[in-house]
Amino acid sequence: PPVKETREFQTETKQLLDLMIHSIYTNREIFLRELISNASDAIDKIRFASLTNQDLLEGNADFEIFLLPDEGTKTLTISDNGMGMTYDEVVENIGTIAKSGTKAFLEKMKESGSASDLIGQFGVGFYSAFMVAKKVTLITRAPGQAKGVRWESAGDGTYTIEECEKDARGTTIILTLHDEHCAADHPAENFLNRYTLQSLVKKYSDYIRYPVKMNFVKEEKPRDADGKIIEDAPATQTVEVRTLNSMAPLWTKNKNEITKEEYHQLYKNLFHDWEDPLEIIHSKVEGAVEYTTVLFIPAHAPFDFYQREATSGIRLYSRNVFVMDNYKDLLPDYLRFVRGLVDSPDFSLNISRELLQHSSQLQKVGKNLEKSVLKTLENLLSKERSKYETFWKEYGKAIKSGVYSDFQSRDKLQDLLLFPSSNSEDALTTLADYVSRMREGQTVIYYATGKDRLAAERLPQMELLREKGIEVLYLLDRVDEFAIDALREYKDKKFQSISRGDLKLDGIDVPETKQETEKLAKENESLLNAVKEKLSGRIAEVKISNRLKSSPVCLVSGETGISLSMEQILAEMDK
Ligand code: ADP
Ligand code: MG
Repeated sequence: PPVKETREFQTETKQLLDLMIHSIYTNREIFLRELISNASDAIDKIRFASLTNQDLLEGNADFEIFLLPDEGTKTLTISDNGMGMTYDEVVENIGTIAKSGTKAFLEKMKESGSASDLIGQFGVGFYSAFMVAKKVTLITRAPGQAKGVRWESAGDGTYTIEECEKDARGTTIILTLHDEHCAADHPAENFLNRYTLQSLVKKYSDYIRYPVKMNFVKEEKPRDADGKIIEDAPATQTVEVRTLNSMAPLWTKNKNEITKEEYHQLYKNLFHDWEDPLEIIHSKVEGAVEYTTVLFIPAHAPFDFYQREATSGIRLYSRNVFVMDNYKDLLPDYLRFVRGLVDSPDFSLNISRELLQHSSQLQKVGKNLEKSVLKTLENLLSKERSKYETFWKEYGKAIKSGVYSDFQSRDKLQDLLLFPSSNSEDALTTLADYVSRMREGQTVIYYATGKDRLAAERLPQMELLREKGIEVLYLLDRVDEFAIDALREYKDKKFQSISRGDLKLDGIDVPETKQETEKLAKENESLLNAVKEKLSGRIAEVKISNRLKSSPVCLVSGETGISLSMEQILAEMDK
């Protein structure tokens, strides 16, 4: 593809760019963090690839990221000597938003009306450049390629792409800034101001593991023999290259030396989220297995969380050196929302994912991490209930899926479950709290299923239970019943659907006695038989019940077999 081409962005990309450009989002400065984190990712990639193929480095292994503000052209240039991109990769990664997330993002956007808290979740970091630039030029060359690629766009729906010369491997991004982002009288918004840039790097990218450098120009007049400045002599310019970030990985510091803000920035840098995480777990372990870990529970589940391809996993480091991203086999699947990193001298640098899976060290680390995440969740539940409920809203489904798909974890997870119940209009209850409120003589935990609370409340069977003051859990989520079925019992109390079999109210003082029911059945035998005959093939049995108050009839499932609502769910899935 030697000639210059003008191409159109995908419709979705176009919409997204529009959003970026016109969003009222005020925190535009984070574009720098996004571009630096991309540069750092690209260097991670080549560094890792070069472990098995030294030639990729082309003799250039002084990894660095360089910022170059230029007042003359009103441009800010960010360059790296990372992996670069081939022509096809530019089209793939920059020209289109290949990720299916874009559409979902735009839909969510329309719902919530605010881009700022969503942008990061969808991995559209590069496009944030258009928040400050009227034109973005990207020049890149991948190792081994003779030619580079030049990509340019004004964010107006089209971009151009062509081959070009580029000596050094890596990527250079030139931002032609909007006037308001390079005005001298507005230093905080002036992204050509070296001190502004320096403080932004400190703020957002301090522990990026490669030096982020910038030239500072010093003007100096010569001095005389006594060291006094010669005022009328012409000034000489010297250029000093400064490294703006400290590069020390945050997790090597002591916990009490790290601020919340620093953790948050680490999280945002590593996992491309724009929102602070809900919870942070930082621990250092020494002994038979040795590692440091920082784990985060993101404030929101990513939009595609419940799909199989969703990105998840843990970053692995070995003595501060990046080994691998998105490693999924460390934590059980039901904790896949946890992001974070583990740094251990036991991980070797060029180990493959397959080998890692069989590493017993890593399995031990994984077990420990699982324990500490669960411990953290237990603490949240008992000490910060409202925060836990926020967590539950986002990830409750994942925990429930752990209960029914991972039988080893059932016992560990049962106390983390929350359900709505007839005890309160809006508060959720744990199973332990339910049990503590059980009526005297009550032997089972009652639950009702329905598509929503109202549907459950209106079940005819609810009347009697309500009158007796017996609490009923409402299972309103499709997966709830799977979880309850998998548990079977909690602290020796079996779960009992109120629309299934005998309600087992015997011990709890029910006025109608068994004999009375039997007598009624005898007296009405012909009626029961007539109904049974009429509905034959569709029902198994017709019975006189003592579970109804004002409703004349209700449908119940037998003691065994799947429940009514489960049947409905399955029927729906079949469609
Ligand atoms: P993300 O970083 O979450 O993948 P971005 O929008 O920030 O999303 O970047 C999109 C993609 O463009 C990256 O995944 C990467 O493949 C490519 N890319 C961006 N910047 C660079 C760079 N400096 N060097 C190499 N590839 C890059
Ligand atoms: Mg990025």
